[in-house]
Amino acid sequence: MLVIQVEGSTGDSYTATFAREGDILRALCSCPAGASGTHCKHRLALLAGDFRQARGDLTADVGEQVATLLRGTEVERVLQALSEAQRDLERAQREVKSHKKALDRVMHQ
Ligand SMILES: [Zn+2]
Repeated sequence: MLVIQVEGSTGDSYTATFAREGDILRALCSCPAGASGTHCKHRLALLAGDFRQARGDLTADVGEQVATLLRGTEVERVLQALSEAQRDLERAQREVKSHKKALDRVMHQ
């Protein structure tokens, strides 16, 4: 089990807990979003290897510990799908912007 203290955007302190049993990774957070059962940015950041919100003493290999907990789990698979969807969305947003610029150009020729 891995327990990491994080500081929320309002300065409150929360506890993110990661526990793995077999291929199941349970990730809990004591923040309001985490407590109500929805995903929270704290866990997503920590699982992505971003420890900027973390407080207290972290061991030097905390990134590797998280990666090891994540490897081969359903959480890892879904996070990868989320990341791909995010990339697709950003690409589509760039395309929309580019088409709008092109539209402005062709309408003002
Ligand atoms: Zn949280």
